[in-house]
Amino acid sequence: MTTHSVERTRIFWVTPEDDVRQHATLCEPPEEGGPVEVLGGHQPVHAPARKEPGQYQMWHTRPFCEQCFTAYLNLPVAPPEAAG
Ligand SMILES: [Zn+2]
Repeated sequence: MTTHSVERTRIFWVTPEDDVRQHATLCEPPEEGGPVEVLGGHQPVHAPARKEPGQYQMWHTRPFCEQCFTAYLNLPVAPPEAAG
């Protein structure tokens, strides 16, 4: 059995301090916080400073930015099984 290390797209979910919604970004936000490009294609958001590991995980219990969430769902992800 051969296991390839699959390069998966890592998504960071950022909740700016002046927002309640999570925005998705492909770039890890700077530790001290700062503007990050978002997946949703709207204005960059200001990521708060990193406080804890796992801060950028997706929280299903919190609201998402609709644009970022839609873009996230539309990400080209290699299907586990190629059809045909
Ligand atoms: Zn967004």
